[in-house]
Amino acid sequence: MSETEGKKERGVATCENCGQPIPVNVWPDGTVHPIGGKNRCCAEPSYQVVENETPAKFVDEN
Ligand SMILES: [Zn+2]
Repeated sequence: MSETEGKKERGVATCENCGQPIPVNVWPDGTVHPIGGKNRCCAEPSYQVVENETPAKFVDEN
């Protein structure tokens, strides 16, 4: 449990192979690591980061 090495950023990536969106950690070296490790969506996932974790505008406006 070493949560202190470098700065991982949470984000959401989409698998370009099957289109599945998954939560990921983006490491300082630019690599993408699915959160949970074993949550592979398919045999050869290819993740494309689509957004950072910012609960930006998904709030009800009323
Ligand atoms: Zn996939």
